[in-house]
Parts: sequence; C-alpha cells; structure tokens
Amino acid sequence: MRQSDERDETAGDRRPDLLAGPPREPAPLLEALKSTVTGEVRSDRLTRALYATDASVYQVVPVAVVLPRSEADVLATIRACGRFGVPLTARGGGTSQAGQCIGPGVILDCSKYFNRVLEIDAAERRARVEPGCVLDALNLALKPHNLQFAPDISTSNRATIGGMVANNSSGTRSVLYGKTIDHVAALRVALVDGTVASFGPLDAGELEARSRRDDLEGACYRMTRQLATEHAGEIDRRYPKILRRVGGYNLDAFVPGRPAIGGDDRFNLAHLLVGSEGTLAVTLEATLRLVEVPRAKVVLVVEFPELLDALAAVPSILVHGPSAVEVVDRYVLDSTRLNPEASRLRDFLQGDPGAILIIELSGDDTAALFPGLDALDADLAARGVGAHRLAVREPAKQARIWKLRTLALGLSMAEKGDAKAVSFVEDTAVAPERLRDFIAEFLAVIARHGTKAGVYAHASVGCLHVRPIVNLKTEEGVRRFEAIANDVAGIVLKYGGAPLGGARRRPGPERLPGVDVRPGALPGVPHAEADVRPESPPQPGQDRRCAPPDREPAPRPGVCHPGGPDDLRLLGRRRPAAGRRALRGGRGVPQDARGDDVPLYTGDAARIGADLATLAALVSEGRLRPIIDRSTAWTDIDQLLEAMAKGQVAGKAVLTVAQS
Ligand SMILES: Cc1cc2nc3c(=O)[nH]c(=O)nc-3n(C[C@H](O)[C@H](O)[C@H](O)COP(=O)(O)OP(=O)(O)OC[C@H]3O[C@@H](n4cnc5c(N)ncnc54)[C@H](O)[C@@H]3O)c2cc1C
Repeated sequence: MRQSDERDETAGDRRPDLLAGPPREPAPLLEALKSTVTGEVRSDRLTRALYATDASVYQVVPVAVVLPRSEADVLATIRACGRFGVPLTARGGGTSQAGQCIGPGVILDCSKYFNRVLEIDAAERRARVEPGCVLDALNLALKPHNLQFAPDISTSNRATIGGMVANNSSGTRSVLYGKTIDHVAALRVALVDGTVASFGPLDAGELEARSRRDDLEGACYRMTRQLATEHAGEIDRRYPKILRRVGGYNLDAFVPGRPAIGGDDRFNLAHLLVGSEGTLAVTLEATLRLVEVPRAKVVLVVEFPELLDALAAVPSILVHGPSAVEVVDRYVLDSTRLNPEASRLRDFLQGDPGAILIIELSGDDTAALFPGLDALDADLAARGVGAHRLAVREPAKQARIWKLRTLALGLSMAEKGDAKAVSFVEDTAVAPERLRDFIAEFLAVIARHGTKAGVYAHASVGCLHVRPIVNLKTEEGVRRFEAIANDVAGIVLKYGGAPLGGARRRPGPERLPGVDVRPGALPGVPHAEADVRPESPPQPGQDRRCAPPDREPAPRPGVCHPGGPDDLRLLGRRRPAAGRRALRGGRGVPQDARGDDVPLYTGDAARIGADLATLAALVSEGRLRPIIDRSTAWTDIDQLLEAMAKGQVAGKAVLTVAQS
C-alpha cells in the first residue's frame, strides 16, 4: 500500500511498469494463483495467444489468465500479483479498440463466471451487477420492468458492465443519455492492496470522515480532492468541453463548482474510476441507474450528395431534440451492395447518396412524436437541407434501417486483401458545430497519406468513426498508420476535440501526442495512478523472482510483440503453408511437437465467436497448429470451428495445440 505522502525518488524503480514484459520465472506466481483461486487459472500457450489480442491492432502476450468465480478470487489474484510484482489487467468482453485489455502480466477475465445480475430494484430504478455481466444480458433481465441501462453501445452482445465502466462507454443515443458515468451510482472495488472499498455519493460530513481515514481508501479521497482543487485551472483549460470525451481520468468531475453528474451533485469517487480503464482499481460490483425504455420512436432519413453537407446540417437538427443523429457515408453504404441480406435493406434509399443522416426522435407516445417529426421535416425542407427526406413512422421499417447501418459497419471492414479498414483514429470527437470542418481536414490527412476511409456514427455528438485503409502487414503500412495517427492528433487539438480512449492503456507508440488530456500531463498527477492503481504494489518482502524485466520494447501495431523466448516460438511469424498443411490434413502429430491440452468451453456463444475468430486467425497465419483430439467426432479443425460457431458442440471440445 502506498500513501501519497510516501512518494520518493526511487518509487518509479520499485514499481513494475504497466507495460513491462512478462515475468522472468512465472512458476511461483502460477503456483500462488492455483492454490488460492477457485476459478480457472490458465497459462497454456493457446489461452495466452487468445488473450494476447482484443479488438485493437495490438498484441501483448500475457503470462497467465485468471477467470475468477467470485470476489474472493479477484482479491486473491490481486494479492498474488502484488506479491510477485506482476501487472494485472482486468478484462470483460475484450472489445476495446485501443489495447485497453491486453497486458504482459495476468489477465483477469470477469466475463465467464463473475457476471451475475445481483439485484433489480424497479421502483428505485437501480440494478446491482457483477462486472462481467454483458450489457444485453442485463437489459434482457430488465425488459419485464420496461427499464434499461441507457448507454447503447454497438458491442452490447459482448461488452460487459466492467468494461463499459472502465471505458466510460456511450452509444448511438449519447446525445440523449450521455455516457456510462451518468448512470453509475456506486462501485464496489478492490484497491491495489487487495482491500475492498465502496465508492458512492457522499454528503459533506461523510466526505470529511472518509478523507480522514488512515488507510488507502482515505488516501484516495484526500488525493483526488487535492489534485482537483490544486489543478482546477489546468483541468478547466485542458479538458475538452464536449460530451464524448472519454480519454483521461475524470478529474473535472471533482473540481469545486462542478456540474451535477446523473442529477446528483454529491462527491462520488466512483466517477474517478469510470473511464480509468482499470488502472486504479478492479470493479467488483456496480450499482447502476436505469431509465425507462422509450415506448415510441420515429425516424427521418435525409440523403445528401456529399458527406460534408450532411455534417454541416447537424447543428440545426439538434435544436429539434433528437435522441440520435447518425451519419453513414457512401463508402460504408456501398459496402452493402454485394451482400444479399444487406442489399435487400437498401430499399428505403431514394437516390445514390454521398451520405445519409438517420435522425431519431423518441418518447412515450408515437402520435405525440408525429408533430415533432413533421416540424423537423418542414424545417429542413424550408432550408433546402438534403436531396431526399423520408419520414419513417412504423417500428418495423425503422428496424430495417438500423439493421442496414449495423450490417454496413461489418461489411465495410471486410475488404479483400491485406489492406483493411483499421480502427486506430476512431472515436475522436469535437463539438458538433465544428464537425464538418474537422472531418474535412481529417479526410485530407488520410488522402495525403495515399489512402481512403469510411466514415459513420454519432454526428449528434461530433464523434465519428473514421477507419483508414491500411496494410499493417508491411512496414510501410505501419509507418503510414503512425503518421496518420500523429497528423490526426494535430487536428483534434486544433479543433478543441478529444482523442479516442485508451490513453492510459494504449500499448503502441502513437499516443496521439499533443492532445494528451491524460492527467499525467498535469504536474504531480502521475502519482494519482501510481498510488492507487492495481498493478503490483511494492510490498515489504516482495518476491521479485517473477518481476518483469526492466525494459521491454513497446509493441507495434500489426507486428508481433513477443513476450519472451517462449512467446517468440508461439507467435513469431511462420510460413503459413506449414501450418495450413497440419490444419487441413489433421493427420498425425510430428515427433517433436509438444502439445498442451486446451479445453475450449462452449457455454457462451458470443464469447466463443470471439475466441474462435482469434484462434482461426492464429491458425491461418501458421502460428498455432491445432491437432484434433482423436476422441472427438471431428477430424478436421475447420469442421470443428464451424460446428462450434453453429452451437452444435455440446460439452467441451479439446484441441491439442502445438507450435508450428
Ligand atoms: C465494432 C465495435 C464497436 C464499438 N462500439 C462502441 C460504441 O458504440 N460505444 C463505445 O463506447 N464503445 C464501443 N466500442 C468499444 C468497446 O466495445 C466498449 O468500450 C466496451 O464497453 C468495452 O467493454 P468490454 O467488456 O469489451 O471491455 P474490455 O475491452 O474487456 O475492457 C475494457 C477496459 O475495461 C477494463 N476492465 C474490464 N473489466 C474490469 C473490471 N472488472 N475492473 C476494472 N477494469 C475492468 C479493462 O482493463 C479495459 O481497460 C466498440 C468496439 C468495437 C470493436
């Protein structure tokens, strides 16, 4: 445990870095984990390969993965990591796009077991959940009460509440609902020293009492208050005043005179943990505020010849109080032409637009929404906005339009060949009034670097997803990736915007210099993380056998980041042909192959989908060579993967994995 007044010159030397490499000798750590954790502790090569990636372009091989069954398992894992000085990274659905949930030490995956809805209080509109609870599962449980957890992110069938809290996630309707921070009432968390704290709203007397406590929890209160007060001016100057800022700690939520969050202006330390990407504490339980599901929605689709015309129209649309304004550009729309299912959904389009805006109004009564829809339509017509407009009142027709938007995203990412639409400058945000000019410069940067990008998403809040086409299998592509990221950083800064999240965890070198809104950029603030983060606190008698090496090369996008000699063999580039031969034939095991039995569980279809995608990628690149266990019915890996994807595999399928 470190208190803020214990800082000293050598503190940095004693603390293993978040991005440090794997332990030199993992066996003692694994023994400690296996003897205390009742959930799964995995360190086989396949598991480590699966958890080396998330939805980002980065790859860092962990030393082990823990799947906790309970709070006690989480605490045991934190203590073991602390004892051996090994970094700990919590993980939910693994859908982060900036490398937030990968790391070289232990990965703590809460999604498999630690995922229950603990309580629903419909009268108070509250729910208590474990961190691994998937958003769709929570909303399904809330359906009978006509309630929902409001942040409506695209990855709702995989993303967990723990991940949403850590990333301060928000979705299509953030213009109406805000971000996760607006809906978190309280958090029960494990601090770096393995103690448990409950953070929720406090009145002045309670805050003073907690701040006087002589433990780490008391230090958290004192430090946060001190930082927010001392640096109030800098925080005000540096933090972008836009809804979709999610990078950096929410110190602005603690400056004196701050606006209320979620309708409550009391001091609530849970709001510092929201958006902290798991760097301050591990969430054990979240108490969430719920909202009623709107009973009625209507949509206006507006077609524009050019993307920039669509973006220019957004501020005047916002005065009509929409619940969503989503933009989809021609590149993304065109990707739906060749897909049979998606192309059938295009029938609402009247022309061949350069972009469309999908504007949604919502409320309790459809008939009451009609005048608003008509007023919006008439206003845009009077001002000559859009080439075509289509008012959609029927829910089934609205659903088809939203479905096309969802399908278009996936299809636009499925280019043939090695150059792909890569998510790395995604989720930048500016004020909606500046969005048109910002995106014009953004696209000019991409064109200058000799490529193109699809553009879609949340025009209502100035947060668009722009995915440049880049080939990360070449050095030139990686250089282009870094150059685009750096140039985009410059224009985000120029427009007073916010970069994407992932600022604390992002493992790559392109940290969007110049727009660093991390509190680490403020004098003195690095201590905030160092003092309370869950990674390996220095402890008396700490066992350094497992300590990471002092320096590890930073991982680069698209380039394997070997965690050590063992991982070099596992993940180093192989000749694909060799791997494929073993894969297709499924015949025999070479004499020298050393296999690890790896059970692939089949209980959670969404999760299996994600794992299989990673597994299939590793196999197809020849990095892993799975050999089907003779006792199963499948003799070929492709057959097995297909059967698993269709949910036809009961129980466990065992793959034997050998290095190629
Ligand atoms: C195609 C696509 C679309 C997306 N759309 C959206 C969108 O609409 N809106 C949006 O906001 N995001 C979006 N995302 C990003 C991502 O889905 C969200 O940020 C999501 O909330 C992450 O949840 P997760 O469970 O996958 O978390 P993970 O990715 O597993 O982890 C996210 C962070 O949470 C931390 N964490 C996880 N569990 C805990 C815990 N128990 N305690 C402490 N820290 C923890 C991790 O360490 C990590 O820092 C999208 C991603 C993709 C790939």
